[in-house]
Amino acid sequence: MRLVLFGPPGAGKGTQAKKIEAELGALQISTGDLLRQAQADGTALGLKAAEYMNAGNLVPDEVVVGLIEDRTSQDDCKSGFILDGFPRTLPQLESLDQMLKGKGEGLDRVVSIEVPNSLLMERLCGRYSCKACGAVMHERDFEEGAPKVCLTCQTDALYQRADDKPEAIEQRLRTFDDQTAPVKAKYEQMGLLSRIDGVGSPTAVFDRIKEVLN
Ligand code: ADP
Ligand code: ZN
Repeated sequence: MRLVLFGPPGAGKGTQAKKIEAELGALQISTGDLLRQAQADGTALGLKAAEYMNAGNLVPDEVVVGLIEDRTSQDDCKSGFILDGFPRTLPQLESLDQMLKGKGEGLDRVVSIEVPNSLLMERLCGRYSCKACGAVMHERDFEEGAPKVCLTCQTDALYQRADDKPEAIEQRLRTFDDQTAPVKAKYEQMGLLSRIDGVGSPTAVFDRIKEVLN
């Protein structure tokens, strides 16, 4: 299965990609995670990318396209993958299309997770990520007054992303409307798009996605 998970920042792409990966076996590829890993490794690419990311802007197309080409050509992607956060511009969509065509492959589906803007801001402002296991959770999930530990792996490896600050979030939402929304229209034209209501618990949203994929 080759899938694109599409949606604005905070729609729940990462959460759902992990669920699909666990249940359906296709590998999650998140350009955001790949870029943050490059940053943590201190590579030149990672440090350059961080400047764009922290300001809420997109990293240049050739950088992310290069990352995706490398990652998807590894052996563990042979039986499929879930793209989370890619493509985010029309040139990225074109590159992906060409890349897959070159291998005689194509996308099976593009799932668009739809969430109103008012809710996105609230989700992103209170978001915590776990360095140890990759889980993502929200401020309101923690017990009041208790030390914040990961709700999945129980370690204290939680952090708030540098771009989960109000100004950066606002810029990311603007960037989405300006540069990423056209990608959805294009996939719709290509007959690949399925829209999913992204409001509700992760399990409820996952059930809707499974319905579409079956
Ligand atoms: P979110 O979807 O919540 O914004 P991501 O982890 O997917 O989070 O992306 C974080 C940042 O990484 C983006 O704001 C952008 O700067 C960069 N990034 C991720 N994917 C892409 C992409 N396909 N093209 C350009 N920049 C990207
Ligand atoms: Zn954890």
